[in-house]
Amino acid sequence: MPGAGTDSSKDWAAGPGPVVVLVGPQLGENIGAAARAMANFGLSRLRLVKPRQRWPNDKARMMAAGADRILDDAVLFDSLTAALADCSFVLATTARAHDQAKRVVGAAAAAREIAPRIDAGETVAIVFGRERNGLENDEVALADRIVTLPVNPAFASLNLAQAVVIVAYEWFKLKSGDLLPFSMPQKSPPAPKQQLLAFFASLERELEQVEFFRPPDKRETMQINLRNIFTRMQPTQQDIQTLHGVIMAIAQGRKGPARGGVLDGEEAAMLRALLAEHGGGRVPNERGPVRGLARLLRRNPTDAERALWQALTNDRRLAGRGFKRQTPIGQHICDFVSFPLRLVIEVVPPDESAAAAKARADKYAWLKERNYKILELPTRAIETEMAETLERIVRATGGD
Ligand code: SAH
Repeated sequence: MPGAGTDSSKDWAAGPGPVVVLVGPQLGENIGAAARAMANFGLSRLRLVKPRQRWPNDKARMMAAGADRILDDAVLFDSLTAALADCSFVLATTARAHDQAKRVVGAAAAAREIAPRIDAGETVAIVFGRERNGLENDEVALADRIVTLPVNPAFASLNLAQAVVIVAYEWFKLKSGDLLPFSMPQKSPPAPKQQLLAFFASLERELEQVEFFRPPDKRETMQINLRNIFTRMQPTQQDIQTLHGVIMAIAQGRKGPARGGVLDGEEAAMLRALLAEHGGGRVPNERGPVRGLARLLRRNPTDAERALWQALTNDRRLAGRGFKRQTPIGQHICDFVSFPLRLVIEVVPPDESAAAAKARADKYAWLKERNYKILELPTRAIETEMAETLERIVRATGGD
């Protein structure tokens, strides 16, 4: 069975090609593998000079993996001269310098040299030597060219069938015009410039909304760089539709998702002020609402809370101390708490109203009765002196 990727409707051999001659091959396996390599690269004519094992050979058939036709048509000879009798041009492959006054070429050059001769109907042979000792000097002497491969000089000898595959590959590459059998499927045609420009316009409009192009004197360079990112990828029409959809989804999402609103930092601060004044620092006497409210606050942090939480979780000294955000303790909700340390951290906004300050005092009294330490951090300090703020927290945790 020829195997995956094989199109059985295609001709077996791509056209006339050189004859492959194996001199004194020792292993049937190598003959089979060489036949397979020949079939892969459009060669069909195999000649064997005194193979060491019985012929036909089961191991050869096994390794040929379906290239049986080449083995069936292989012709046996008693001598190399007999095998080359009808050939007008012969190449001898070898890893060794034979010190003969004979031109030496690589596999690609060999293919270029034989192509016009084969086109002209000549019979050309490429000769390969024995696994153990390669070709004898007098055998190389029969050739018009020596073919050798660029190899690691410390390990120059290839397996017989692998040497065949390289030579056959270069031959086929030349004859097929180096065309690959398939390429990436083009599912959607390339986007025309008009579509690309419309995409840039909407992308830039959305970026404008979030004041992305800053500072103003960089605007033009930024736009050009951005456009070039997308131009470089040579997008298809489908690519641009997808990207457009992505930009619009993000833009729509920012304006407010379909379910439930998200507050920005300022609105989140207003919510806290409102609760502080009207909730008296605590929430009604049931369990449910405290938790719901805590969750609401957690999802809508103020800018200061967000910054502090990020710094806290990134600080080696404080990570792992069990801090939580917007957590109910009894009926109170505390900005940050570490239950293991019994430490509450409260972010104090500037200009708190009298009612809010009273509520805060009640809350602290309630917490202190229950042995909580309280650390107050002014919003301003978090915004301007994060390093010192973290120091204060570290000290309050009793750390160094
Ligand atoms: N020990 C042997 C190598 C035999 S390998 C020697 O020294 O010649 C079997 C055959 O594979 C060689 O006779 C030759 O036809 C081919 N071959 C192996 N390595 C090669 C190389 N680097 N360049 C060209 N042909 C090579």
